Amino acid sequence: MQENQLRFRQIHMDYHTTQHIAGVGAEFDPDEFADTLAKAAVDSVTVFGRCHHGWLYYDSKKFRDRIHPNLAYKHLLRDQIRACHKRNIRAPIYLTIQWDHLLSRQHPEWITLNPQGQQNGTPPYEAGFYNHLCVNSPYRQFLEEHVAEVFDLLPVDGLFLDIVQAVDCSCQNCRNLMAAAGVNAANDTERQAFALKTINDWKREMTAHIRKFSKDCTIFYNAGHVGPRDRQIADAYTHWELESLPGGGWGYLHFPATQRYARNLGLDSMGMTGKFHTSWGDFHSFKNPAALQFECFMMLALAGKCSIGDQLPPDGKICKHTYDLIGSVYREVAAKESWCSQAEPVVDIGVLTPEEFNADGGLPPAVFGATRMLQEGGHQFDFIDSKSPLGKYKVVILPDTIPVAPALAAKLEKFVAGGGKLIASFKSGLNEAGDAFALKCLGVDFVGDAPFSPDFIMPAGEIGRDLPKTEHVMYTRGLQVKLRKGAEALASTRVPYFNRTWEHFCSHRHTPSAHKRGGPGIIQKGNCIYFMHPIFTEYADVTPRWCKQLLLNALDILLPQPLIRHDGPSTVVATLNRQKTEKRLALHLLHYIPQRRGQHFDTIEDVIPLHDLTLSIKAPKKLKSVRCVPDGAELAFTQHDGRINFTLPKLEGHQIIELAL
Ligand SMILES: [Zn+2]
Repeated sequence: MQENQLRFRQIHMDYHTTQHIAGVGAEFDPDEFADTLAKAAVDSVTVFGRCHHGWLYYDSKKFRDRIHPNLAYKHLLRDQIRACHKRNIRAPIYLTIQWDHLLSRQHPEWITLNPQGQQNGTPPYEAGFYNHLCVNSPYRQFLEEHVAEVFDLLPVDGLFLDIVQAVDCSCQNCRNLMAAAGVNAANDTERQAFALKTINDWKREMTAHIRKFSKDCTIFYNAGHVGPRDRQIADAYTHWELESLPGGGWGYLHFPATQRYARNLGLDSMGMTGKFHTSWGDFHSFKNPAALQFECFMMLALAGKCSIGDQLPPDGKICKHTYDLIGSVYREVAAKESWCSQAEPVVDIGVLTPEEFNADGGLPPAVFGATRMLQEGGHQFDFIDSKSPLGKYKVVILPDTIPVAPALAAKLEKFVAGGGKLIASFKSGLNEAGDAFALKCLGVDFVGDAPFSPDFIMPAGEIGRDLPKTEHVMYTRGLQVKLRKGAEALASTRVPYFNRTWEHFCSHRHTPSAHKRGGPGIIQKGNCIYFMHPIFTEYADVTPRWCKQLLLNALDILLPQPLIRHDGPSTVVATLNRQKTEKRLALHLLHYIPQRRGQHFDTIEDVIPLHDLTLSIKAPKKLKSVRCVPDGAELAFTQHDGRINFTLPKLEGHQIIELAL
């Protein structure tokens, strides 16, 4: 079970405040501050020790020249914490790490350098405090003393250490250390590996340092994302905070994809959105209430806690209207959270994340394609990596670009031999060289790239259910494969008259089908189904419904009894969590529709109710009751063939349904 259970209703209270504004904190009133939070049902707030401008908001003894020069309220941080503690509100402290504008100006030699020898981050004549400082510089010593002083002067519930990233640095300190460690600094891969080791070593050292002062304060190092890279350093953290503001560039798929991975790393986790319309520092903006509801309730549905970002204005007067908005959501969270505490996700499917194998560390589109397709299909799934145990999954999916090294091949072959089901697509299952299938269970041999693209899949039989039996374009080039013994083509491709080139082309886009058979398109061998096209990336790109339908049909073949079935639209999100001690399941249903209303901006304004939603849940034994919670309305249900069936009269936004075991 997860340790360090976080609170459910948290605020991340930014306070990056320049010295070019006077009267900093002049309007701060500790009781008004904490009463406003308490009234909005907030139970934890992260408050500011040191900001990206480089200023301190407490009465430092050691670093008096770093105290904000216009700080009108001398003990701002201390009194924020005291007022919160009086109302049983936790108050962890925020400290910036790699971005500090003041120190970057005072010690330009501490700024990380890119391989061209230039400073990383904001150029001199642009606004912004984004120069990354190097922890291999004497800055490391400053951080140690700074943290020690914070413990000396203030009560510390936890530390949120911000901007802690592996930065590819070629400063003189890093080059000396690389030389001493025998690292070839001129080699990009070796240098980047050194950068990752640098930051991980620093985190472990800092956690050990913090533990000298507190055995149990929470510790989190923020890099704006949590992924497979963080597994190796989880011991330095007490929990995960998944910074993911849908309007701030993360989008609406980043949180569900990331949380479905992070929640399996053995630590408690929270989502972090913002009250801002767009992103951090968007003063005087307000998120649409429906969007804030969706974002917070999604965190609960995915077994996480909630955090909402805000920024206190320079004068320190908390915005009542912001907390009217936040309170409207957090009071609902408060009513729901007893069905969310110690919640463990119940899932059928483990999706190996292509992120683990992506050299640049970003999230490949196949992650978002898989998230969308499975969520829209009502499936219950985690993202996993090559180190995750597979025992709890009925189906493992390898989307598009999962190279399979010998150890992973052995693990997956064993899983399939033991009755596990496997779906792979495109290059997933190939060896690391990419020239042969390492996964023999897929039943295919590698020939090369598909000779035609786009080509066309011809739906047939069970895999083609609900699709017209005619060519469907597959936009992205697949692989040419041959069937091995015992494998069967569930669907084959048709090829165009020719590939579109300047010498021969037809009409505006791709060449139509010549109605000639190509190769096998979807192949089954026993427990495994293989798609030769990159269906997950393609769905992330242009969302052809037939790609999703083919995947859902493959799942119907391999997983005839999924945990949840419903007859709602594809915009319903359904998740299932178990509370062991309460002996119950909590089914979360959400219906909010993010819309592209700005050219590059998705939002939600309206909650569109659904009526008479029919649900069928795979239930292990006789259920005692089915109730809508927290209001408690009982729902009539029938139970047969290992499933319980009932109708929800109305779904308006978010509904938890308690299944008492
Ligand atoms: Zn460096």
